[in-house]
Amino acid sequence: MDSFFFSADAGDDDWYGNSSARSIRSLSDLDDERLYLVDHRWWNETRESMFREVDGVLYSTSSCLSDDFESEIILDMRRSEIDGDDDCNGEEQGVSGREYALISEWMFYRALKWHYDLKKVQNLAAIEDNKADLFFLQVRLSISGTRNSLIVRICEKDNEVGAFNKSCQIFTLKIWDFSGQITKFFLQGRMLHDNSGPVNKEISLELQVYGLYHYFMLKENGMEVDSKTELKVNGHSNEVKPYVRLGQSHTSSFNEAHKLGLTGLYNLGNTCFMNSAIQCLVHTPQLVDYFLGDFRKDLNFENPLGMNVCIFQIIYYYFLQVKCMNYLFAHVDQGKLALAFGDLLRQLWTPGVTSVGPRAFKSRLAEFAPQFDGYNQHDSQEFLAFLLDGLHEDLNRVKIKPYNEIKDVDGIPDKEVANEHWKNHLARNDSIIVDMCQGQYRSTLICPLCKKHSVTFDPFIYLSLPLPSTTMRTMTLTVLNTDGSTLPIPVTVTVPKFGKFKDLIQALSIACLLRDDETLLVAEIYNNCIIHFLGKPSDSLELVRDHDRLVAYRLPKDQDSLPLVVFTHCYLEESNGQGGPSSRRFGMPLVARIPESSDGFEIHKKFLQLLNPLLLPEEFSSDSLDTCSVNIADPDTKMDDVADDLTIEDVPNSDEVMRKSSVDVDFHFSLEKQGFSSARSKIVMDEPLLIPETRQVSVLVSWPDEMVKRYDTFILNRLPETGELPLLTNNPPESVSLYKCLEAFLKEEPLGPEDMWYCPKCKEHRQASKKLDLWRLPEVLIIHLKRFSYDQFLMDKLETYVDFPIVDFDLSNYTVHKDCQSSIHYKMYAVSNHYGGMGGGHYTAFVQCGEQWYEFNDSQVFPISEDQIKTSAAYVLFYKRV
Ligand SMILES: [Zn+2]
Repeated sequence: MDSFFFSADAGDDDWYGNSSARSIRSLSDLDDERLYLVDHRWWNETRESMFREVDGVLYSTSSCLSDDFESEIILDMRRSEIDGDDDCNGEEQGVSGREYALISEWMFYRALKWHYDLKKVQNLAAIEDNKADLFFLQVRLSISGTRNSLIVRICEKDNEVGAFNKSCQIFTLKIWDFSGQITKFFLQGRMLHDNSGPVNKEISLELQVYGLYHYFMLKENGMEVDSKTELKVNGHSNEVKPYVRLGQSHTSSFNEAHKLGLTGLYNLGNTCFMNSAIQCLVHTPQLVDYFLGDFRKDLNFENPLGMNVCIFQIIYYYFLQVKCMNYLFAHVDQGKLALAFGDLLRQLWTPGVTSVGPRAFKSRLAEFAPQFDGYNQHDSQEFLAFLLDGLHEDLNRVKIKPYNEIKDVDGIPDKEVANEHWKNHLARNDSIIVDMCQGQYRSTLICPLCKKHSVTFDPFIYLSLPLPSTTMRTMTLTVLNTDGSTLPIPVTVTVPKFGKFKDLIQALSIACLLRDDETLLVAEIYNNCIIHFLGKPSDSLELVRDHDRLVAYRLPKDQDSLPLVVFTHCYLEESNGQGGPSSRRFGMPLVARIPESSDGFEIHKKFLQLLNPLLLPEEFSSDSLDTCSVNIADPDTKMDDVADDLTIEDVPNSDEVMRKSSVDVDFHFSLEKQGFSSARSKIVMDEPLLIPETRQVSVLVSWPDEMVKRYDTFILNRLPETGELPLLTNNPPESVSLYKCLEAFLKEEPLGPEDMWYCPKCKEHRQASKKLDLWRLPEVLIIHLKRFSYDQFLMDKLETYVDFPIVDFDLSNYTVHKDCQSSIHYKMYAVSNHYGGMGGGHYTAFVQCGEQWYEFNDSQVFPISEDQIKTSAAYVLFYKRV
């Protein structure tokens, strides 16, 4: 994804001023392509199926005279007369088991993996000390005066005793060079001779000798090795020894012999986020094959967005001083992140290794991403996104990105537009990461007014799916009957966070058992006044904030055309100065429909009816409780007696209230002009009411002290915020299927007001809605579950249990473009888990190797069963196409 590119100039401040010093350091840091000496027959098995194009050059070796043969072996390697292309003759000799192949590192790892995959390592009981399988041999190379032979010196002082002793038994035979390094060395040797006379400069080279353990055993047992003997060299015959690890049981807690690739990563101090993501990646089949192979050919030396910035030459003089043979001109500082990752992957796939410390990789990473320097905990997904993007830029086969103009796509079928976008993307981006992880989705913007559709196609390398808690939202509203039959009740409903107003109405109707002949009118209350009614069913619920207070009024459906009366309440306060009494509002407004031709009596009657449920029983309206109720209702207000003429009498029952309503002068009603709250006129009881054009009559009701005592105004004041939960609920973590998360991701959503879209048809900015559809799916589908939510005020982690498929993740219902060529079924092979809370916690990985699942917990590797894979810790899911 283009959004993950990094700054290319990170860390190149002193680059040019210091290039020669850097060049030495860099080349030695590079630890370039190593050479492996392996049994020719073992190699040849692999070669037949995957390295047919690689030719070997046969060298014969013979011992030379040495002054001190006991501590030094001197060999003379000469290019044999038999040509490497002469397959028939070559293979005849190659299978004798007495010939060796010199191969480069990537060939070695590919061959190793090939044997491993082929044999599937069933015979785990066969345990062998594999530490002997791979040993390092330090040799010195120089060109002899004749220029036709290579002098190989193996000195005891350079090597471990064991390795030196073993080496006495090799190099007496024939060596096939498939690496091309010997030829290169000859060429360079000649050059040196031509330029500076007959000097005999030496190059020190470390050889990795592999798979000859059995051969040595046979030798030591005195068995004659000749061309007719069937040798049991590791991996080369029918009775193949598996690559198993033994011992080191102090770091591995299970007794089973390890398989290839089951290598832990040491925690360097809060680096479990990195270890977890790395283990998932290094068990991704395509990446394993790629990085065990010759990935260096793709290293992107020229991409300015790559992880390196500068190209320079290595002078041959320096070249001679370092231990490895390499290209005369090496652009060693390019593609360093990919090199470091490849190196780490190979270490993790090296037989006989239990745990690896990813120190070199980590410091290389920090050079390009300072945020990963130090030892703080990070988000494994953030790291993964960074790494994938960095690897992509380092390995981009496109060296110069062409500029492609996006054409006007109006009227062109989606399929063609999608292909065009895809082609353009691939013209600029072509790497193993693209081959493996890049998918494409369709993004449609829809104008809410003219319904204009605007389609674009975007690439993705992973999907970030929301969890239901971030897609659903609870809202608490107060539901009020408008016939005075019940008390106001708070109702909490769960609605889609990005839902519409109609979703809220639907949920509320169910929750409050709305009858068929009723309808709901929802109003937002602010400062004890209705500031507006929530209108259109298609309005977004995002417009309602958590601290808003909403009331839903139940109204008779068949009275929709009648005028609506809104009662707001106030206490009368005596002003300190000369002015008249001022009012102070309280409580939630009450609402009702009134007949077309109503008068003051009708208003009065209606109000008393609405208040009916709040009427306190006689025994509760004693003085002691009155004070309490008043204080709760409005603790700051000193009540003034405004109703001088009110006679205190027994609290009437509801019938009495109804009967007496027309004559009581307890409440004062005045008509408010909308928009001008100060402009009001007293409602005269026996005068007809003037219904305004808006069909809404706003009535301010002044409550005298005596009335406040009679009614439970506390209930009127109890108006919760919508975000408030009714009770402290201790619900278990939510459970949701991965398909539901995907649906939430693909669901049509209105854009926020801050993301207004310019509609080309309306020629105006509109709050469009956006719909995503999966169009093209990658081979490896990485799914990030958005467990961490970042609110304006707090960060939170969702512990939702996501029920994800392991064996068959079927995306056929979620992909709009059906490409018959490829399957849309996926199988899980790795999970990155996060345990604990924000900013800390611990990461592990579950990875499938063969049929068996393993837990990678830093340096520890355990086998686990498949039913342990699904937990609420699952954070990043890795699927491969099946
Ligand atoms: Zn429009």
